[in-house]
Amino acid sequence: MKAYADRAVVIRTWPLGESDRIVNLFTLSHGKLRAVAKGARGARSRISGLVQPTSELDLLLYQGRELDVIQQASLVQANMARGGVDPAQFGSAIEWLEAIDGLTLDRHPDPVVYDLMNRGLRMMFDEPSPTLLGALLIRLLEREGYAPNLSSCGLCGRTNAAYRAFDFSSSAPRCSGCGGEPIPPGVLDLTFEVLNHRVSGVLATHDPQIGREFEGFATRLVKEVVGRGLRSSAVIASLADNHRSSG
Ligand SMILES: [Zn+2]
Repeated sequence: MKAYADRAVVIRTWPLGESDRIVNLFTLSHGKLRAVAKGARGARSRISGLVQPTSELDLLLYQGRELDVIQQASLVQANMARGGVDPAQFGSAIEWLEAIDGLTLDRHPDPVVYDLMNRGLRMMFDEPSPTLLGALLIRLLEREGYAPNLSSCGLCGRTNAAYRAFDFSSSAPRCSGCGGEPIPPGVLDLTFEVLNHRVSGVLATHDPQIGREFEGFATRLVKEVVGRGLRSSAVIASLADNHRSSG
């Protein structure tokens, strides 16, 4: 069996048989993959303490026939997998990791997403902001090629309008005459700022209500993209993207 070392964040785990766990990992060099942590369900198992959602680990893995097997693990940082973490913060971290899981392909390494994932987890713990998860989700959508086009109404093409509505199925705003779902004021402005890489101003928004509305909007965008069956179309998009960034 071939062994390899990698660094990874634990997205989630499932029990396997009596004593093992399947671990969904986002690794730095091999992308997203599932591996087995043997003996990870024993209360005294060292590995069960380490293999927790959100924690970042240095791993030694063996290539298995179906699933790779975690042979050694050491902690890089616990992120949210430690005592005293606010359950709401932990919930945001899980939502963030599940969005990464839903929007990325298996075994498709992307160091930019890896870095964004980790920075996001660190900021959720160190400097939480009501707009943080929304901003992270918009950046992730952009990286994966699913950023909404906010420059014109998706139906009539009118530009520079004050858009108050949005069509989620086409990820485009709607001007006042073109229908769509009403969007709380300010949400599209925050989205625009993130897409134009002015994130620090967005994170300085401390209004919890705007934060919730922005997060709800970004979460909905992610769900629409994932639900659209991105996996087939995204193979092509992400191959093209990798080609661009390597060339
Ligand atoms: Zn219009």
